[in-house]
This record gives sequence, structure tokens and C-alpha cells, in this order.
Amino acid sequence: MAYRYADVIIDISHEKVDRPFQYRIPEELAQDIYPGVCVHVPFGAGSRDKTGYVIDLSDTAACPEDRIKTITSVDNKAVTVEAGRIRIAYWMKRQYGSTMIAALRTVLPVRQKLKQLEKKKVVCCIPAGDLDGLAQACEAKRQTAKARVLRALAEDEELPYELIREKLHVTPATLQSLQKQGYIRIETESVYRNPVKLAPGRDRRVVLTAQQQQIIDGVMRDYREGRPDVCLIHGITGSGKTEVYLGIIEQMIGMGRQAIVLIPEIALTYQTLLRFYHRFGSRVSVMNSTLSMGEKYDQMRRAAAGELDVIIGPRSALFTPFPHLGVIIIDEEHESSYKSETMPKYHARETAIEIAGMSGACVVLGSATPSLESYYRARTGEYRLYEMTARQGNGTLPDVVIADMREELRKGNRSVFSGRLKELMAERLRAGEQTMLFLNRRGYAGFVSCRACGHVMKCPHCDVSLSEHRNGMLVCHYCGYEEVRRPNCPSCGSRYLMGFKAGTEQIVEAVHREFPQARVLRMDADTTRTKESYAKILSAFADGKADILVGTQMIVKGHDFPNVTLVGILAADLSLNRGDYRAGERTFQLLTQAAGRAGRGERPGEVVIQTYQPEHYSIVHAAAQDYRAFYEEEITYREFMQYPPVAHMLGVLIISHDREDGKRLIQEMADAVRRSDADGGGVPAGGRAAGEGADKPPVLVGPAEAAIGRMNDLYRHVLYVKHADYQRLVAVKDVLEAFLQARELKNITVQYDFDPINTY
Ligand code: ADP
Ligand code: ZN
Ligand code: ZN
Repeated sequence: MAYRYADVIIDISHEKVDRPFQYRIPEELAQDIYPGVCVHVPFGAGSRDKTGYVIDLSDTAACPEDRIKTITSVDNKAVTVEAGRIRIAYWMKRQYGSTMIAALRTVLPVRQKLKQLEKKKVVCCIPAGDLDGLAQACEAKRQTAKARVLRALAEDEELPYELIREKLHVTPATLQSLQKQGYIRIETESVYRNPVKLAPGRDRRVVLTAQQQQIIDGVMRDYREGRPDVCLIHGITGSGKTEVYLGIIEQMIGMGRQAIVLIPEIALTYQTLLRFYHRFGSRVSVMNSTLSMGEKYDQMRRAAAGELDVIIGPRSALFTPFPHLGVIIIDEEHESSYKSETMPKYHARETAIEIAGMSGACVVLGSATPSLESYYRARTGEYRLYEMTARQGNGTLPDVVIADMREELRKGNRSVFSGRLKELMAERLRAGEQTMLFLNRRGYAGFVSCRACGHVMKCPHCDVSLSEHRNGMLVCHYCGYEEVRRPNCPSCGSRYLMGFKAGTEQIVEAVHREFPQARVLRMDADTTRTKESYAKILSAFADGKADILVGTQMIVKGHDFPNVTLVGILAADLSLNRGDYRAGERTFQLLTQAAGRAGRGERPGEVVIQTYQPEHYSIVHAAAQDYRAFYEEEITYREFMQYPPVAHMLGVLIISHDREDGKRLIQEMADAVRRSDADGGGVPAGGRAAGEGADKPPVLVGPAEAAIGRMNDLYRHVLYVKHADYQRLVAVKDVLEAFLQARELKNITVQYDFDPINTY
């Protein structure tokens, strides 16, 4: 369908991205105008000819018709990297529901042109043979500083300006004077800021196994035959996936292509980076949240200029503007950090597939516990599946036992450790081996309640309970509110106000009580406020400075401690109690990852999973480390409930200052969805599935108050819409956007979330 108007931005790399200008699309160009296209337009009072990019299309005029100018022509030669990124932004806006500006900000993360970093150097302008004589002449005139410079230049024809200033103690005035005399030239060259401060080292090359080689060959064959594909490598940790990635990248570079490697920020360890640097040298760079604006900007420039082959980073590295992208690799593809939690709420996997499609690249996904999405698509043939089943070297899978904590309580054990775990910890301490205790406290708050009246201490701004901290404060983890912990219940005055004791601090205390001689380290959000403290704890533990590491999920990601032979998983089921359709998947992933931490070295490992729900399938299959069995049960549940990946789900979240305003609006929006589908037979209410057919109407769940109905004094209402066909949900979103456009919303924001990772 041809649109009548186009929004054009004149200078993409400027803050003015915020201000597009609307132009009329002449009929003869109707077929050639789409987001990303470069056009000539008359601009400003004098209608000077300017080039700009089309970023959006519409059928409604934003101002009176006679004030809208007309696009002059399409500039087909300007097929730039920017054009590609604008197309992606437009796709994200359509696919995930956001404003075009928010989408552009996501794909063009550094928007202002930053000043280029410059380096000055001093170049000798006279024949080397004359230098000595000149230096002597200077010395005779007591111009010793000048003499020092001339003698240094006799050794090296060019020297860095800073070096001369600092090491030879020469003032800028002296250098100016030498330049005036015609002896030297001070030159300025622009350099890139490089966040990689490593010297290229030795590459530890392995002889690939037949299986690894087969995967590399398979991916490259698909690529060469012009069938850029998505493939999923399902391989346990340590099975050699990273070597496969390195092999694919090597071949891509050989063909003049570039690679983007996505790694969750928390797993982006020094060791991982080293492996890439050692293989590919200085043409590798990194992108992450610790980089300065200038460093980020320069990595983008280096990439666009063809001076990089590989970029490694979390989600945002996806938008690196490579001229000839060959492959996008997503390691640990099941990680929830690949889904953006701010608008546009895009998923890096889907977006990578779209980017790859546009640039003729392929996508390689890797995980030990693939997301249900990816495995489902691999099983239905949409992705190509490769399985890697054995660990490299002599690492073996650990022995896992489940400890039923209900049984422990019946036996009179009130400690946080089961009898079995206590025994094994004692053994490890005697043997000088290390233990990791993982407290699964996802979605759990260490709440304080009154044992007499049941009153729970809650945040006055959010509908969540406060968590007790050691310093005597009660803290809200959503908004940061703090109050002093009082001894008496504010409701009934009793003295029995107690914390539910199961935080990492309590675990550390319990370890000290049981094993006073043990050296313990703790790692959680409180002890790792800064990046350095995080690395410090990890390296102290790796260096054997502690026997036991106690921590939350951050200790289970991607770190290799060969001396850890025991992993204890405490409260394995806490993450199951969230009323969230992904709870089982998340629990399985966490437990499998935590178990995988044991026995990475020569000695075999043991794992104890402590739980109150030992019969739950995600715990049973995690203990058996059987992904396939878990998948079969989980997908049956998703099929029955028509949850993703079997069907799709659109979450609509309304955030309002006034509770009634929000409630009214979400109800009206639900009505609008039902009305829009009236000719399709109406939308049935209720949570059960309407069936699988793409011809069926969408199913509405809600509207309702969100699970956390108030956060930061803002009210939250939510509506879910389910359908087998994603595009039907995009159509629902379009209906809602049109509905909202017709009204002035004050103090209300609306957010869309497709296939949400966290339900509200
Ligand atoms: P993953 O990425 O699946 O966790 P890695 O690629 O990191 O696995 O491999 C795990 C370990 O096994 C690494 O130390 C790696 O160097 C080693 N390794 C991988 N492939 C081979 C191989 N073909 N021969 C010998 N060692 C290998
Ligand atoms: Zn009370
Ligand atoms: Zn709060």
C-alpha cells in the first residue's frame, strides 16, 4: 500500500533525529519510498536542496496541506549503513510497538558526533646527517632543550609529542621555536579510542573434533549456498561451542566478512575476551556498558570504516554498523538479558535474524539449555539443529542428588542445610576442595512479618514487601525506599516481628555456625555494587583464598573454578512460585547451570539440590540434566495453555498516576480490541485457549491490576492478548495505537511487550 506522506530526517548523526520533517510523496515515487531510503528534499526558508532519510510513512498530514513540501527525488546511490539501521528501527517500531524516535535511539546508540581523539607527533624535517651539528650549535648557545630534541630525532625520525614533552622535559614553546626554524614539523593525526588494552598473545589452537568441524562446515555450506540460515547449537557447557564460533568467524574473515558475537554482559569474562583477541588480534573489539561514550563512538566508526572484523558485546552490540556482515553469533541464547525491558522491548534473537536477513548474514545460536522458543523452532525445522553431547577433555557431568527439605524438617533438622549437604561440605573442607552454595532467590524478597498478627512490612510506594538488611534497615528493591527496622509490629504492637531468614547473609552465618574454621566469601547484588568488587571476589575464590562461595544467580554464570567439586543449591523451588508461565523454564536453566559448576576440573563433582517440591518436573529433569525430557513436558504445558512459543502473547501495560484512570483506560482498550474483531465472531474472554488456528480471533486475558499493582506511586494495569499468529497481534497493537492517538492521554503511559519474558 502506498502512503501519502513521509517523515524525513536531515542529519542522521545529529540530535536533530528528534525532529523529522514531513514531506509529500509524489505519485511517481510512491513505489520507491520506504524507511531508510535517502531522498533529496527542499529544506528551510530558501528551500535549499538537502539530502535526508525517510524514517516513517503515514497517511495523515501533521500540518495544513499547503505547508507540506514535496520530495524532489530518490538518491539510489546512497545505500549506506545508516539506511540499513533505519530500516531496522522501522521494523522494531512495527514489530514491538514503540515510537520511531525510541527505535532510532536504540539502533544509533551514540547520536551526537563526538570530538575525535587526536595525537600529536614531532617529525624531523632536515637530513639526519645535519642533526648532530645543529645539536652542537644549540648546546653552544645553551639551548640544551633544543639539543635534546635534535639528538632524540637522530635516533627516530618521528616521535610522539607527549613523549618529548614528558620524557625529555621540553616545553611547547621550545617545540614551537624549533618548528619556526624549520627543523621539525608538529603533526596531528586522529586516532581511535581503543577499549582493548591487551597485547595480542599466543593463540591456543586445538585440533577440532569431527563433530565441531561438521558444524562449522554445515554453517558455512548453508552460507555459501545463499541459504543464510539460523542454526542452534545445543551443547552442554564445556562441549566446545566457543571453538566452533571461532572456527566460523575465521572462515568468515577469510571471505572478507565481519562477525558480531553477543554474550550476556555478566558472562563477558576476561578469559572469553582473551580467546577472541588471541585468535584474531587487534581487529577484535568489545562493546559494553563500561565503555565511555567516546570509546563506543570510535568502535562504531572503526566498524563502519572496515577496520574491525569482530565485535563482542551484550545486546546493544547487535547494532554495530559492519559493511559486510557475515554472521551473528548469540551465545547463551536463552538468557533473559537478550530481551530489552525498555521501549522498544525487542528481543536480540528476533532482531538479529531480521538484521542478518537484510545483510545476507547467518545467525548461530548456542546454549546448554536453549530457550523453549529456539528449541521449538529447531524441532519444527525452522532452525537447523546441531547437538554437542560430550564435554571436551576429561571433565564429566556431576552426580546430582535431591534433598527433600520437608523430610528434613520431619526428622527435626531445622538448619538451612540438609544432612547430606552438611556431610559433603565437611568432606570438602577436609580435602581442601571448594564448595559453591547457590541461593536461588529470584523473585523472592526477604520479607519481615509479624508472627502474632501476620502483618507484612511493605513499601509505602510499591505493592511489594520490604527486605531486611543487616544494617538494621528495611529496603524496597524496586524503588530504593528505606526505613529503620522497628522492634514492634506497627499493627498490633507485638514484639514478634521476624524476618524470613534465607538471604545470603544468613547462609554465611549458618556456615560459620556449622564450620567455624571455613573461609567464606559472599557474592550478591549488595557485595558487588562496583565492577571491581565483582571481579575481586571471583579472583579471590579462584586463587583459593576461600573454601566456600555463597551467592545468588550471579555466581552460576560462565565462571570456571576447577577446584569446585561440590555445589549446593538452596531453595531450588523459590523461583517456581512466581505465577509466571516461564517459571519452570527459568528454574530448569538456573539449576542446570548451577549444577554445571561442579567438576569442571580433573575431579568429579557432586551437586545437592535442596527443595520443598522434589517432584516438580523442572527439578527432576535438572537433577538428571536431561534437557530433552524437560522440553517435552514444558512444551506440552505451553501447547495446552497456548503460551509462547506455541502461540504468541502481547502484554499491554498501563502506568498511571491515578488508579481509576488506569483501570478505565485498560477496560476501554480491551473493548477496542474486541470491537475490532467483531466481524471475526468476537473475542472470547477468559484465560483458556481458543485453539491453534490462525483464523481464530485473538484471546484476551484480563484486563487486571498487575501483580505489582503499584510501583513508585504509579498504578499498573495489564492486559494480555494471545494468538497463534504474531502478525495478528501486531494488528491488535496497531488498533490500540490508533485508539490512543484519538485521545489526549495525561499522566498515563502505555507499553507493549511481545512474548514477554517477565509477566507483570
Ligand atoms: P563451551 O563454549 O561449549 O563452553 P569451549 O569451546 O569453551 O566450550 O570448550 C571447553 C574447553 O575445551 C576449553 O578449554 C577449550 O579450549 C577445550 N576444547 C574445545 N574444543 C576442543 C578440542 N577439539 N580439543 C581439545 N580441547 C578443546
Ligand atoms: Zn502484629
Ligand atoms: Zn518501593
